[in-house]
This record gives sequence, structure tokens and C-alpha cells, in this order.
Amino acid sequence: MTAILSNLQATREAIIQAARNVHREVNSVSLLAVSKTFSAQAVREAYQAGQCAFGENYVQEALDKMAQLQDLPLQWHFIGPIQSNKTRLIAENFAWVHGVDRLKIAQRLSEQRPAHLPPLNICLQVNVSAEASKSGVAPEAVEALAHAVAALPRLCLRGLMAIPAPVDAGEIQAAPFAQMQQLLHALNQQGMAMDTLSMGMSHDFSVAIQEGATMVRVGTAIFGSRTSGEHT
Ligand SMILES: *Cc1c(COP(=O)(O)O)cnc(C)c1O
Repeated sequence: MTAILSNLQATREAIIQAARNVHREVNSVSLLAVSKTFSAQAVREAYQAGQCAFGENYVQEALDKMAQLQDLPLQWHFIGPIQSNKTRLIAENFAWVHGVDRLKIAQRLSEQRPAHLPPLNICLQVNVSAEASKSGVAPEAVEALAHAVAALPRLCLRGLMAIPAPVDAGEIQAAPFAQMQQLLHALNQQGMAMDTLSMGMSHDFSVAIQEGATMVRVGTAIFGSRTSGEHT
């Protein structure tokens, strides 16, 4: 058994366990395999182990992998910071974008989404830990952004995404995840129809699931640690 196969199985089992612990439906949580910095061959192996959805942070790296994996029916999610000069390539090549935190970026993605493709699925990134990270819309500003994005024709607003600031070893805080769940609930009460809470990574996905995550973005636990140096 390859490492990727056994890691994927272990991750799936941990997801199921986390869901059961809080009496959630096991299939209410989907797994996004974060393949940034790993090779097309690693993605192929994960696909052979039954994984179809992959997350990438860097546009060019993702396009190179897509070109090598055209024979597979993969679903690609862009989860990295979005530069305005990259929106066209993102709109043309991805099924989901998780890090939208400005209307201008959303407008570009909508304008640039090709007509022959279904609307681009969007999660709005929320800055729930209001310090370290500069990305993400402030919780108070999510509502206005959500209404504006929902009105764009070539986008489908699916939900919210967060990357809570890392905390000291062993102490993963549930509060930011719980706040995200409340935000999503409040927006849906106001007539939005969002079904996705994209939150939880290798070290904290169980806590995220406990607090309502519907999509966890897991890299290291599946592919190993990213030793080769990350791009910036
Ligand atoms: C890299 C990354 C992940 C995966 O993180 P791991 O700790 O390797 O599981 C998830 N989400 C985003 C936005 C990332 O950039």
C-alpha cells in the first residue's frame, strides 16, 4: 500500500470519527486534498485511491498539473491568495475559489468565467482571527460582500472559508470555527442559500468538523510535509 493511499484512508477514517462524535452525517463533510508543492504523480495516486477534489494555491503550478492530468475527471479548487492579474486563469481553469475577500476580485472572476462552463463556485474568506493574517473580510463586512457576490451572474456563492491563526501546540481553539458556523447560519437566515463551510486543515480538521465544517482542506496528512520550500 502506498503512503498516499494509507494516509488518505486514515484521514477519511478520522473525518468519519469526528462527524460521528458530534452526531453529524458522515457524508456531510467532504475532503479537499491540498496538493500544492506535490507532483502530478502524487495527485494521480490520490485519484487512484478515490480522491477527486484537489486544492492548489499557485496558479502556474496548478496549470502544469492539470495539463499532465487531463485524462482524469478531477475537480480543482483554488485556495491561495488571489492576485487580480491571475483572475482570468483562475476563472478559466478552476471549479471552486475559496479565498475571495474583495468585491473587485469577485467581479473579475464573474466577468472572466467562460460561458461554456458552469458558474464558478465561491467561498468568501473571513478573517476570524483578526490579527496575523491580512487576508479575509472582517466578520462585520461579510454580509454586504455576500449580497454583492450573490448578485454576480457567473458565480455561485457556496459559503464561507477561514484559516484561523495557528495557536500554541495542543490547543486548537474551537471558537473561531464556531463563529464561522454562526456567521453562515445568520446569512442563510437572511435569505442566502449557502451550503459550504470550508475550514479545517491537517492539524485541526476534527475540531472544525465538530463546529460544522462541510469541507476540510487537508494537505500534509495526505501527501506528507512540504519540505521542498513553498512558493510565495
Ligand atoms: C496549504 C493549505 C492547506 C492545507 O494545509 P495542511 O496543514 O498541509 O493540511 C489548507 N488550506 C489552505 C488555504 C492552504 O493554503
